Amino acid sequence: MGVKSKIVIGNWKMNGSAELVESFTRTMLDNQAAYAGIRVVLCPPFTLLQAMADALEGGPILLGAQNVSEFEQGAHTGEISAPMLASMGTKMVIIGHSERRASRGENDRIIAAKVKQALSVGMLPVLCVGETAEEKARGDSGAVVWQQLSVVLHAIGSELFGQLIVAYEPIWAIGSGSTASTDDILTITTAIHAKLAQLGIQLPLLYGGSVNAGNAAQISSLPTISGLLVGGASLQAGQFLLLCSNT
Ligand code: PEP
Repeated sequence: MGVKSKIVIGNWKMNGSAELVESFTRTMLDNQAAYAGIRVVLCPPFTLLQAMADALEGGPILLGAQNVSEFEQGAHTGEISAPMLASMGTKMVIIGHSERRASRGENDRIIAAKVKQALSVGMLPVLCVGETAEEKARGDSGAVVWQQLSVVLHAIGSELFGQLIVAYEPIWAIGSGSTASTDDILTITTAIHAKLAQLGIQLPLLYGGSVNAGNAAQISSLPTISGLLVGGASLQAGQFLLLCSNT
């Protein structure tokens, strides 16, 4: 999947229902002019993937997942593999979200294995990186984010470097109602682009953390930003549509 245009990814987290899939996708598909030229991806919980795949079939919105197993198959009760997701038409998968790093014990090794699994079936991994409030206060944001990203780059090998999307999501901004300042987003993402350039890599960088219809235009217009990863504001179709049209 090409990522030349801006991209907006909706992460429903552990929310939603069959009814929401139905009404949400109907509103989105009835108003395609609002996101013409933008790649929109919807990531519902696993149990709603098939309903979402059916509802989106043949339309411009892509299906994404919120997580994938680090294993390909076998005795891993409760896990969902990359081939399983791909077989449902999932084109993209969020990996290393801070909520999973913090509460499900996902470390850089596990995250790198998940990225490799996604790539092995041609799904685009959206690797989430970001610092805590304490790390930011210590002035360590850039170092923390680069450490999270470089572990994955080393693990996947240079031939796959170009097949990754990175979402810069300051942990303190997620679900808090406060975004990072545009100056801070610009500083961190400029530094990431510069380090990647030293390795001969160019990757799309998204921003996530309390994005809404009101701030989407300002953040997405930053020259270092290729799009937005949206949590809370992706649960209400009217708001999400407005957010997309402002991107
Ligand atoms: C997220 O879940 O990745 C996220 C950015 O959430 P929110 O937009 O609610 O801060």
